[in-house]
Amino acid sequence: MIVTIISTLLIKTPVKTDQEILQNSMLEDDPNSNTILTSSALSEDNRASLEKRPRWGPQHKGAQELAKLYSNGKRTQEIICVYICISLMVLNLGLILRHFRLERISYVVVAAVFGILTADFGSGLVHWGADTWGSVDLPIVGKNFLRPFREHHIDPTSITRHDFIETNGDNFMVALPILGKLAWNFFTRTNAEIQQDYAISAYLFLCSIFIAMTNQIHKWSHTYWGLPKWVLFLQNHHIILPRRHHRIHHVAPHETYFCITTGWLNWPLEKIKFWSTLEAIIELSTGHKPRADDFKWAQKRT
Ligand SMILES: [Zn+2]
Ligand SMILES: [Zn+2]
Repeated sequence: MIVTIISTLLIKTPVKTDQEILQNSMLEDDPNSNTILTSSALSEDNRASLEKRPRWGPQHKGAQELAKLYSNGKRTQEIICVYICISLMVLNLGLILRHFRLERISYVVVAAVFGILTADFGSGLVHWGADTWGSVDLPIVGKNFLRPFREHHIDPTSITRHDFIETNGDNFMVALPILGKLAWNFFTRTNAEIQQDYAISAYLFLCSIFIAMTNQIHKWSHTYWGLPKWVLFLQNHHIILPRRHHRIHHVAPHETYFCITTGWLNWPLEKIKFWSTLEAIIELSTGHKPRADDFKWAQKRT
């Protein structure tokens, strides 16, 4: 009996119902109209409210204002980060392969899984922090690093119109110090030391690659046409963030499913109420309301 109740409450209850997703998320997320419910499955009231709702997207006044804040200085920072990061990725890949021994393959597999899980959790933590706290008005951080998160909620498909630099600049910046330290270790340690710590190096390498790739994977989860077959394969087998899975985050007020690398941790974190507990603790201790700035931008429709 208790097991049945627990399994019903914990496992069978969906995080968001299909109805909730359709009513409270932006249709721009699904430009091919691959909606989960047909409109006849919606009640009269819901259909009427959907038709009346102003569509959020490129014409949203708040989104236009935020897009204009993308500066030349920011672009320069992104270009520098992308080029240095790619150079370090290639260098570290060469070093990792040079020191690889076949007998260490099982360690490498375990390190890879933990590397991916760490990157997924990190993506959730950073995304949650940026979505939930702070304001675009904050000096430096606001316009340069919080702005894209606010823009993404009111114009989700703007990410599909961003080029490689704008999409990946910030994530490549986060991966930079890890890749830098890794290369430093390879050059300053003896062969024996490198072999001893090989699993840790493989973990750090794969973790940083997944951190760097996160916003590209996120962009693919918003792309409804023209994706290469291998990307669709990875999405369909939930090796990277699938499109339907990420829609759950884009249901207003954007309070769950923050992990955007693979999304593997979204369901367990939601079930243990990880984000809402953290928010309650922060609100109690600081008095700041979660998502106050995000809500303010969402209101700037006209
Ligand atoms: Zn978000
Ligand atoms: Zn998104």
